[in-house]
Amino acid sequence: MATINDNYLKLKAGYLFPEISRRVRVWSEDNPDAAPRLIRCGIGDVTEPLPLAAIEALKNATDELGERETFRGYGPEQGYEWLREAIAQHEYRDRGLFIDADEIFISDGSKCDTANILDIFGDNNTIAVSDPVYPVYVDTNVMAGHTGEADESGAYEGLIYLPCTRENGFVAPLPSQKVDLIYLCFPNNPTGAVATKEQLKTWVDYALQNDAIILFDAAYSDYIRDPELPRSIYEIEGARDCAIEFRSFSKSGGFTGVRCALTVVPQSLQGTSKTGQKVAIHPLWLRRSTTKFNGVSYPIQRAAEALYSPQGRAQVAELVEHYMENARILREAAQNAGLETFGGLHAPYIWVGAPDGLSSWDVFDLMLREANVVITPGSGFGSKGEGFFRISAFNSRENAVEVARRIGNVKW
Ligand SMILES: *Cc1c(COP(=O)(O)O)cnc(C)c1O
Repeated sequence: MATINDNYLKLKAGYLFPEISRRVRVWSEDNPDAAPRLIRCGIGDVTEPLPLAAIEALKNATDELGERETFRGYGPEQGYEWLREAIAQHEYRDRGLFIDADEIFISDGSKCDTANILDIFGDNNTIAVSDPVYPVYVDTNVMAGHTGEADESGAYEGLIYLPCTRENGFVAPLPSQKVDLIYLCFPNNPTGAVATKEQLKTWVDYALQNDAIILFDAAYSDYIRDPELPRSIYEIEGARDCAIEFRSFSKSGGFTGVRCALTVVPQSLQGTSKTGQKVAIHPLWLRRSTTKFNGVSYPIQRAAEALYSPQGRAQVAELVEHYMENARILREAAQNAGLETFGGLHAPYIWVGAPDGLSSWDVFDLMLREANVVITPGSGFGSKGEGFFRISAFNSRENAVEVARRIGNVKW
């Protein structure tokens, strides 16, 4: 008898995006004339073509694979040295941060890495997540058996939810009890919030004092405009001893369909074994990678490397600028409509307060019906997301301008 991983049965069936699709489908069937007007500002996926530097690198690398002299088979599981060097240089050393190329692991995505990282941690950790939260952090802990059942609000027994609210600027407060693993994401999806150095320092200090480890998701670091704001957790003293950082080319280089990301595991980071011994984390993640992964394809790694060439960097900056200008247009439209907005300044997401008396899903239905625009209901990211909705700036300029116009025409 083949039994299954029963933890999967605890996962909530009515997940956010299927429900959005269902409502959009029903509306489209009922309104076939209006359906072509539909604009999606829901899912966090990029829309603009890849930077030219990446395209050229992809083509050249593909040609290399077609010649005996330059053909390559399996690459290093951790990623090619030249890519890890380029990352260490441009993302870290150039900013005065000492991250070595051998502390960097190349992967096919940060979603995968933030999920797979649980492989190397014990099953008895107390785990803290923010509320609202990127659902991957929660669901992967459910799958790993780290939680009980979900309650009515969708919160799982055994997880510590840190409420992110207007009052705390959507930056997770320290927990009142001791936790061992903490997921932080800045700039944040879904709220668009960004943490200051002082705020991150309170977390680093907490982790160091409690022998906890921070799992820092910096997928949106390139969207930070203000040089005073930390783009990396390693800008905080002591973070090398308590944090793993996840970065992705998905949102910076438009690589959501290309697939390339990286995880930084400092050599000095340690966890605790069952017998109470301090054990380095880096060799565990290396072992996990070499056993369960065979690396990212050669052309893709060349494409990622090309994002650090002078042309590549200029093209990435242009791409980010495009989305951030959309964010400005959408944020101002929401503000002009009298809505309360957060985020959108250092992130491609605008987090908007629903008008009094409307739930997140009420706003979803209103926007769909009156503006023919799909947004994401905040309640789908956690109970503290109720009363908010997320507008994504990942769109063409034409669509962003049109959505802004329609937001102005909705009777709020
Ligand atoms: C988009 C996103 C990522 C990136 O995931 P990839 O697998 O690298 O595409 C990671 N974390 C968050 C919160 C995201 O929104």
